[in-house]
Amino acid sequence: MPLARLLARGETPLVLEAGQNPGHSIRQWAHVPMFSPWEICTDKAAVALLAASGWQHPPMDAIPTGGELVERYLEPLAGLPALRPHIRYGARVTGVTRKGYDKVRTVGRTDQPFVLRVAGTDGEEQVFEAKAVIDASGTWTSPNPAGADGLPAPGEGAASDRIFYGIPDVLGGLQQRYAGKTVMVVGGGHSAINAVIELAMLKRDFPATQIVWVMRKSNIDAAYGGESGDALPARGALGTQARELVESGTVRVLSPFRIARIDRAAGGSLSVTGDQDGTERVFPADEMIVATGFRPDLSVLREIRLTLDPWLESSGTIGPLIDPNLHSCGSVRPHGARELAHAEPGFFIIGMKSYGRAPTFLLATGHEQARSVAAALTGDMEAAARVELKLPETGVCVTRPLGARLAVPLVSAQAASCCGGPAPAEIDACCAEDAAAKTAGEAGCAISCELPEIQQPLSEPAAAGTCCAS
Ligand SMILES: Cc1cc2nc3c(=O)[nH]c(=O)nc-3n(C[C@H](O)[C@H](O)[C@H](O)COP(=O)(O)OP(=O)(O)OC[C@H]3O[C@@H](n4cnc5c(N)ncnc54)[C@H](O)[C@@H]3O)c2cc1C
Repeated sequence: MPLARLLARGETPLVLEAGQNPGHSIRQWAHVPMFSPWEICTDKAAVALLAASGWQHPPMDAIPTGGELVERYLEPLAGLPALRPHIRYGARVTGVTRKGYDKVRTVGRTDQPFVLRVAGTDGEEQVFEAKAVIDASGTWTSPNPAGADGLPAPGEGAASDRIFYGIPDVLGGLQQRYAGKTVMVVGGGHSAINAVIELAMLKRDFPATQIVWVMRKSNIDAAYGGESGDALPARGALGTQARELVESGTVRVLSPFRIARIDRAAGGSLSVTGDQDGTERVFPADEMIVATGFRPDLSVLREIRLTLDPWLESSGTIGPLIDPNLHSCGSVRPHGARELAHAEPGFFIIGMKSYGRAPTFLLATGHEQARSVAAALTGDMEAAARVELKLPETGVCVTRPLGARLAVPLVSAQAASCCGGPAPAEIDACCAEDAAAKTAGEAGCAISCELPEIQQPLSEPAAAGTCCAS
């Protein structure tokens, strides 16, 4: 929270926030349980300000949802009389530059103030000058596409009315959108697992709901994570829930499946074409949930001399520290102004956006970034270089299991799975009904539990994506 830190150092900062309220982006995932307990969600300087106003810290070991983080922490903080006058809502930054200088011009550059173009909600454009700029605008508004190669798949834009990017509130406001539909979830991370588990909960009330989980990874075990071997038991439990849903047939997995194009099928639903082990295959979907991560929107910074990691698009030199191939969220080394610096003195990116495309950012890391950057901008280089953050060895990424929201387990043999539940392990069958038929000497239940691939031309109605149904 750079605002509190800069105020404490006698500066007069101004926060330009595109939304109308604090935590505008977090409100979009308010229903999602976080991974971290309260203890490492709050910033020391902010807590000190809040405590002076009589605010009570939520229980340290409880895990908030995004909504609780906003309601119990960000709203009271942003409402403090010391902070409120320094925040302007409904102010979207559309460009940052140096006054009178484009990106190319060097001589005298650092003597010029920064200039920020800001669009208000009324459409009016305003210009602000500043001696320093901290971009903490996150990545939430810039999701990765469904296309496997990083570009939106051909047809993806035209299908946007059937695609949700992020984590929809499947059990809340968007229940009707997904109930009874064939829903394709794209992505191999925790956001995708969240969506898959919530859809499985929905399927219990709306059994016709079909859940297809698509990922590029060929090894689905990588998506489950460490499970019982995970140093963080609750996070392991989330992977275990996902595995149970897959093994019970409640969720069908297409892995590896690389989405290459999205077409509109009859009735407005979608046909998703991709590569599976070198073979082109087409699957139906009424809806897609794309949870493939986020990337920074760098367009507003076009005139700023950025120092970015070539592939992560992370700030300064932190790329190797946060490369998701090497680090889990608990093992990222704390870092500050020195590692975050760009080739533009006085300009910093902090928070989720500083990590570029790396998905391992933690609030606690952001608080340390803010502390260090505020110190550097006010000339306290000793404090800027100091590392004050100590991430616990474990306990950073604990997860409140989504199933805990309901009183009964997600996977019950009869209710939540395909055609009477999973088949006995010793019988080669796709579900209990299939096994019973085979045991009785019949060919089986006649319908494969595999999601039916679309065989007909795309102009014809797609086959219903159901199991053991005619
Ligand atoms: C589902 C989910 C769960 C997470 N769980 C955890 C967790 O358990 N623990 C943890 O430590 N981290 C977690 N994170 C990661 C991270 O800590 C959060 O995403 C955090 O909100 C990032 O903070 P931020 O300030 O960088 O960005 P954001 O919270 O996204 O805030 C950016 C703000 O900038 C505003 N903005 C954007 N563009 C502009 C513009 N052009 N002009 C003006 N304002 C603009 C937005 O409206 C927004 O209010 C989670 C993230 C997600 C998505």
